[in-house]
Amino acid sequence: MSVQTVLDEIRERPGTGEVIPIVDPVTEEQITEFTDCGPEAVDAAVARAKDSFKSGAWTGLAGSEKAKVLWRVADLIDQNAGVLAELESLNAGIPENQAQTIVSVGSEWFRYYAGWCTKIDGIAHDVNTGGLTGVESHQHAYTLKEPYGVVGLIFPWNGPVFNFCAKLAPALAAGCSSVVKPAEETPLSALVLDRILSEAGVPDGVVNLLTGYGHTTGAAITAHPDVEKVAFTGSTEVGREIVRASAESNLNKITLELGGKSPVVIFDDADLDMAITMAGFGSFVHSGQACVCGSRIFVQRGVYERVVEGIAMLADNLKLGGPKEEGTMIGPLISAKQLTRVTGYLDQGKSDGVEIVTGGNRLDRRGYFVHPTVLTNVDPATSRLYQEEIFGPVVTILPFDTEEEALAMANDSTYGLAATVWTKDLGRAHRLAKQLQAGTVSLNCQMVFDHSMPFGGYKQSGWGYESGKAGLETYLQTKIVWAQM
Ligand code: NAD
Repeated sequence: MSVQTVLDEIRERPGTGEVIPIVDPVTEEQITEFTDCGPEAVDAAVARAKDSFKSGAWTGLAGSEKAKVLWRVADLIDQNAGVLAELESLNAGIPENQAQTIVSVGSEWFRYYAGWCTKIDGIAHDVNTGGLTGVESHQHAYTLKEPYGVVGLIFPWNGPVFNFCAKLAPALAAGCSSVVKPAEETPLSALVLDRILSEAGVPDGVVNLLTGYGHTTGAAITAHPDVEKVAFTGSTEVGREIVRASAESNLNKITLELGGKSPVVIFDDADLDMAITMAGFGSFVHSGQACVCGSRIFVQRGVYERVVEGIAMLADNLKLGGPKEEGTMIGPLISAKQLTRVTGYLDQGKSDGVEIVTGGNRLDRRGYFVHPTVLTNVDPATSRLYQEEIFGPVVTILPFDTEEEALAMANDSTYGLAATVWTKDLGRAHRLAKQLQAGTVSLNCQMVFDHSMPFGGYKQSGWGYESGKAGLETYLQTKIVWAQM
């Protein structure tokens, strides 16, 4: 499939809703458009998924057969890496080399979960339940891990191929059928992935791609009585709507991977060159549009000035540009809407008297580019830009004196997605790892991630886990069987 074929194909997809433009965030020009598929298409897709699940065409296959198909999916993703990366760059403004990495992480996701297809098992116990009656009574008890059935997979625009693979690979390994909705801003690569799934041998009806808005198509998925489970990645705000939809429909099970406002704590004994570089990249990579970006940095007072200066210098030296522009390290924000949101927070900060060390403005060029921004003199108690997730290249840096103070500041958030500590004192590092209220804690490293390890949020950053064995179990329910001996 070529990029042009995908741009044409999406126009042809049937729908009953509004026409949605797709805009290149680098040029601000419309590259194609599509029609919101709407609730009727959701009904039809869920019915197809349900029929496919009942038929056993996928879920009934031996684990080893499923594994072969998932491995083929991975190989086909690699074979189509060029077009997938190109679409990722065109649609989301992701620099070419980073788009290629995202695609290869996607194929590895399928290889990792191919391995799990043959390892889905429960536990078994021989039990004497006679204690209650005083009469000996022996049972053999065991658990079965069973797929939920039809699952709804909904995800955002900030890494379309990655998000698609991270949800679909474990759902397929578990034996579920699915309806899949990418973000309305970035549906293009999903068309290629959908075709790859068929080519690899995923039977018809097992995976059903739906393209459209969240409040229409997405909401119809989450409220559908035949969707047994929803796995969602996105904002905390929409996460709440998904919980409400579940409560009002069939109490479907939910996994939520939500927003963050992740702290980075830098002590004066840290390897400062490394801490400054990693904390800077960890704040500004992908223009701050990664859920685990460190957006609140706390620095011990003795090295505060040096760290602020270092991160500001890094912010000024990061080359922003289009995916194909030479030396580009950071792309644009995804949309005009996101640009308005980010600059709105910056304007508010200016009127609140926040000190802008560098940045604070949109770049004077076409595209939704915001200069990586370093802010100080922020009041944690009142500042909205300090408390709320901005999802842009904006970091606040504040000083602290003691470990206790740093811990209290880091934990003072409604979010709990990720946290980082930079220190050479190993005792302190592990003490803080235990006390930080975050689903992921990184010690002397940042933005590290692997499909073998679980990922999930504390507090309002999520429910449940993605990735690793825990990510597979997200799509399995446990049945307990008692047999009289
Ligand atoms: P969003 O919540 O607006 O949208 C995410 C997805 O949900 C989109 O596909 C959208 O169409 C759909 N949606 C919107 N309203 C819906 C509704 N009422 N019912 C069902 N679906 C609906 O988020 P966004 O702005 O696209 O993405 C940015 C957010 O995603 C940030 O908050 C970021 O932190 C979060 N995120 C979290 C993780 C994680 O793993 N924790 C990873 C990436 C992004």
